[in-house]
Amino acid sequence: MEKLNIVIFGAPGSGKGTQSEKLIEKYGLTHISTGDVLRKEIKNGSKLGKIAEEYISKGQLLPDELIVNILADTLDKCEIVKGVIFDGFPRTIPQAEALKKVLSERNMDISVVLGLEVEEKELIDRLLKRGAISGRSDDNIETINKRLEVYHSQTDPLREYYINEGKYKPITGDGTIDEIFEKIKKVIALL
Ligand code: AMP
Repeated sequence: MEKLNIVIFGAPGSGKGTQSEKLIEKYGLTHISTGDVLRKEIKNGSKLGKIAEEYISKGQLLPDELIVNILADTLDKCEIVKGVIFDGFPRTIPQAEALKKVLSERNMDISVVLGLEVEEKELIDRLLKRGAISGRSDDNIETINKRLEVYHSQTDPLREYYINEGKYKPITGDGTIDEIFEKIKKVIALL
């Protein structure tokens, strides 16, 4: 059977991680979150972790070449049975182009890009709430504003890119977690 390879796309706080968990459970997908990979490296105190911390704490993106190598490495280490969910990658046009190449070299392709579309005010509210419980060093107002600015300038253009590729499916991010997941399931059923 054809594999289900999903890119979950959206601003920080749009619910990518939450909806990824539900997708993994329902469709048996392998989760690749570049943010999680980097946070693990930071926790382990590795050299890569030290470099990542510099960028993450400032709300900046890691250089494309570095994150693309991390992504390809992570992909090669995972066992993929039913498909993959890419969470937090790609975040720039060069990363999207690199992903296409990395996947085609492995006889893989993106099935769909699910774009979680959430109002800015709601994003900030959610990120501040998450910061209070998660203790993530980048969930403070200053870094949140920087991450949203980076999102608008570098990541949002990917929407257009994937619309042109015929892969982008918008998901309105209002409603409860389960309501949003219902919309996602409907999109997947039509693939
Ligand atoms: P996330 O958990 O996806 O919000 O990622 C947290 C932080 O990790 C981001 O703000 C970036 O500093 C870094 N990061 C994660 N994924 C990427 C990526 N694809 N490109 C560049 N930086 C990334």
